[in-house]
Amino acid sequence: MYKIAVAGTGYVGLVAGVCFAEVGHQVTCVDIDENKVNLMKSGVSPIYEQGLEELMQKNYAVGRIDYTTDYKSAYKDADAIFIGVGTPEQPDGSANLSYIATVARQIAESIEKDCLVVVKSTVPVRTNDKVEQFIQDFLVNDVKVEVASNPEFLAQGSAVHDSLHAERIIIGTESKWAEELLMKLYEPFNLPIVSVNRRSAEMIKYASNDFLALKISYMNDIANLCELVGADVQDVAKGMSYDARIGSKFLNAGIGYGGSCFPKDTKALENIAKQHGYELRTVKAAIEVNTDQKTMLYKKASKRLITFNGLKVAVLGLTFKPGTDDLREAASLENVPLLLEQGADIYAFDPVGAENFAKVHPEGKHGKGNITYVSNIEEALDGANVCFIFTEWGEVKSVIPRKYKELMRTPLVYDGRNIYNVTEMQEAGVEYHSIGRKAVE
Ligand code: NAD
Repeated sequence: MYKIAVAGTGYVGLVAGVCFAEVGHQVTCVDIDENKVNLMKSGVSPIYEQGLEELMQKNYAVGRIDYTTDYKSAYKDADAIFIGVGTPEQPDGSANLSYIATVARQIAESIEKDCLVVVKSTVPVRTNDKVEQFIQDFLVNDVKVEVASNPEFLAQGSAVHDSLHAERIIIGTESKWAEELLMKLYEPFNLPIVSVNRRSAEMIKYASNDFLALKISYMNDIANLCELVGADVQDVAKGMSYDARIGSKFLNAGIGYGGSCFPKDTKALENIAKQHGYELRTVKAAIEVNTDQKTMLYKKASKRLITFNGLKVAVLGLTFKPGTDDLREAASLENVPLLLEQGADIYAFDPVGAENFAKVHPEGKHGKGNITYVSNIEEALDGANVCFIFTEWGEVKSVIPRKYKELMRTPLVYDGRNIYNVTEMQEAGVEYHSIGRKAVE
């Protein structure tokens, strides 16, 4: 059993902390947000992730996890401190490292015994080198401190499962001491471990995320061509998936990738390449395709309708993917403002994301447009002139085609997630537009 502190209780930090506690370590999670800390102490997770709250409550009850804003008390005698704070995108596409720098300084001022600092946040190559130097520069006590890279690969919506059953743990360090300690910390998980040098570990994270973003953009590019030539992208993907070199995952065409990682990590790697005088053309292309893809359905609908002004528009799904309350870079955030600007009367449904969305677009009038949040899909569809599907929540998928015909004033559906069978929508009498497949007009 080791004493672990975790800096940052977002999707990465909190889930890591809870999973380390679950396997028997003594964990203290640190956040600067007092409200979050109070929530967590009362057994409530500040983020929506399946199974997380149960594990928080279970481990808190037995005293294996605690939450605090008092970083000094958490860091001073920790064996290892995991950094999981945000590294958001800056206007030029580069990663903002100010949160990492703050934590590094807090660590340097707090630690009273030898300690391994582990960077879990996604950071540009060579950042670990700088963090180590930065901590040494500000170190108050005479103790040994090293920094290792341990990038995180969890996916939101399945974060707890992904952490407990990760496909691999990447350890990036040139130090035997750090490598052995990390191996011991991860031993109870019994997962494959890949040990490389720090810069390679940092690169593995970007190269993996950007490869997945590329795969999605490639399929979206192919989908757009499928529509033009009369092919069906789902059939194309199915045919491709049998090739073991391609695999069956990440072949779904749609309205582009969102979330807190792919958009920022593609831009960050492009920026890192630029700083080294190299143009990363493949990643640049993925970014461009994704930008266009996000408003693809809005543009299609704009061509079909004279105006959105005064039309009742049902919006089904607001989060960037199902299973999370996260809205970062979600397609809804691009499309809803466009619709409001055009005077649409939006009725939006999302089982968990509506509250967060309402913080950005409060219920009520927005210029010519209006937005209302509803807790049941039928209310959104009732009398609607057009419907947009942005997230493939189970609740949305369970709406049978006939419902659109029965409830909507005009059964006109733009599906950004290809959740319906085209023939079934046609048979139900729904005008149906999706991505990379035949339109039902
Ligand atoms: P997040 O924004 O959800 O959470 C970050 C947390 O850090 C916030 O709660 C914030 O209050 C806290 N914080 C800021 N400064 C702090 C400080 N000085 N001390 C303690 N806490 C502080 O972020 P996230 O989505 O968990 O992402 C964190 C990092 O992990 C990013 O680099 C991201 O790219 C990477 N990552 C994210 C995912 C994901 O799916 N979200 C997956 C893999 C990697």
